[in-house]
Amino acid sequence: MKITRAGSAPSAKGPADWFTGTVRVDPLFNAEAPGRTGAGAVTFEPGARTACHSHPAGQALIVISGRGRVQREGGPVEEIRPGDVVWFPAGEKHWHGAAPDVAMSHIAITETVDGSNATWMEKVTDAEYGG
Ligand code: MN
Repeated sequence: MKITRAGSAPSAKGPADWFTGTVRVDPLFNAEAPGRTGAGAVTFEPGARTACHSHPAGQALIVISGRGRVQREGGPVEEIRPGDVVWFPAGEKHWHGAAPDVAMSHIAITETVDGSNATWMEKVTDAEYGG
């Protein structure tokens, strides 16, 4: 058993190559082998969002606070709120982020496959994100 105490892991800034705007990532856990699950709490300031990306084994998002937006390739931009749970299947191209005027925090759960838990692509333009 391992208890990770709140506040024991440093916050990280979301890398500029992968995010637009100000994003903070607070790591929660990375499973030890043979487990491959990892989770982090991600906080997006208003207007901030991920670049387009996909996950090799899918991803679950659990919205904790604020108001946000998600979009899968070919779908509409959809609003997400605290308590909503979003599942992206393996390989599905998508993005997630805050609302334009309200920050959003979610817990993100992924699995690592061959050393990677995400494939990053192009950024989401202001037009794609919407006003
Ligand atoms: Mn994702």
